[in-house]
Amino acid sequence: MKIHEYQGKEILRQFGVPTPRGLACFTVDEAVAAAQQLGGSVWVVKAQIHAGGRGKGGGVKVVRSPEEVKLAAQHILGMHLVTHQTGKDGQVVRRLLIEEGMQITQEFYLGMVVDRSSQRVVVLASSEGGMEIEEVAKHHPEKIHKLRIDPAAGLLATEAAQIAKKIGIPDAAITEVVIALQGLYRAFVEKDAMLAEINPLVLTADNHVIALDAKFNFDSNALYRHPEIIAYRDLDEEDPAEIEASKFDLSYISLDGDIGCLVNGAGLAMATMDIIKLYGGSPANFLDVGGGATTEKVTEAFKLMLKNPNIKAILVNIFGGIMKCDVIAEGVVAAAREVSLSVPLVVRLEGTNVDLGKKILAESGLPIISGSDMADAAEKVVAAARSK
Ligand code: ADP
Ligand code: MG
Repeated sequence: MKIHEYQGKEILRQFGVPTPRGLACFTVDEAVAAAQQLGGSVWVVKAQIHAGGRGKGGGVKVVRSPEEVKLAAQHILGMHLVTHQTGKDGQVVRRLLIEEGMQITQEFYLGMVVDRSSQRVVVLASSEGGMEIEEVAKHHPEKIHKLRIDPAAGLLATEAAQIAKKIGIPDAAITEVVIALQGLYRAFVEKDAMLAEINPLVLTADNHVIALDAKFNFDSNALYRHPEIIAYRDLDEEDPAEIEASKFDLSYISLDGDIGCLVNGAGLAMATMDIIKLYGGSPANFLDVGGGATTEKVTEAFKLMLKNPNIKAILVNIFGGIMKCDVIAEGVVAAAREVSLSVPLVVRLEGTNVDLGKKILAESGLPIISGSDMADAAEKVVAAARSK
């Protein structure tokens, strides 16, 4: 689960990482009032969306008077902010962060991710802060320094100081960077993050360091023990289909193809998407209905897939283990009737009570195309989508 920059900065502050003073706002009037409350003579008006690259896209403006705060807020609020992380339609800006403008002498990058192969949290640090780290990784990989953290020892001050030196932090600021790195690591572990980024961490003229940006992504499987993180959830930033799916306990992820997939089990769902690709098609979604799918759940799954205007055909791929094929077949028939199915439906069933399941489908009178195995079903659904 992602959160906004201003929320990420609240977390950073709790863990002793310095950030500019700032206030989150929803309206232009609030933005002007926030600037007055903060005081000073330079402010930054920042779009709050769950994507990076806002500066480049016109979502971050440095301003020097309350009148300019007003103009910037008017411009940014409600805009469709397009960045390299939003897709071409962009994301509508509904919240702003007004914060004090800082004097920057240098920008650095600090990040942490879980490295699955070493099973450790890895620190990434670079002198090339402020810009897209993906670009730095591509063109100057030698400028990204990495450090694997031993979970038993945590991030040692000596290790943090070493990496700070490597990215060119001046001696006078090393202690503050060590504190920032250790704070970030504690936040990462205690809050069950999967990714944390400060880009940029800036150096001021008097050698202090401040986190000017904050990005977190939390492990959804650990949210049950973090009500304070769940409270940060902003549904406006999430895919409506995925929100709807979560209400019915369906694992659903929107993709940009045109073949809907309804599968039981995450592994089979992944394999189904692969085989659709293999036959030249493109999946419109990942959907795992789980082991205990009821007729109601299957119906909701169909409704979800059909809300997608790009959908041209649907493939149902079920292995009946705990879940019996006849139950799924009944669910499919009921769902197809309820939603008055408008696209070709290919079904592949295997496992417990498969013959009974196939009989139910055949006798339903619905125009269901039967797939004898995964390859056959994938080939048929790709052909069906093409002919639409
Ligand atoms: P994004 O990464 O989405 O583009 P950032 O928060 O990193 O957004 O802001 C982009 C750039 O704007 C930063 O690299 C920094 O140069 C500048 N900036 C952001 N916040 C401030 C601030 N409070 N004071 C001065 N400059 C800022
Ligand atoms: Mg940034």
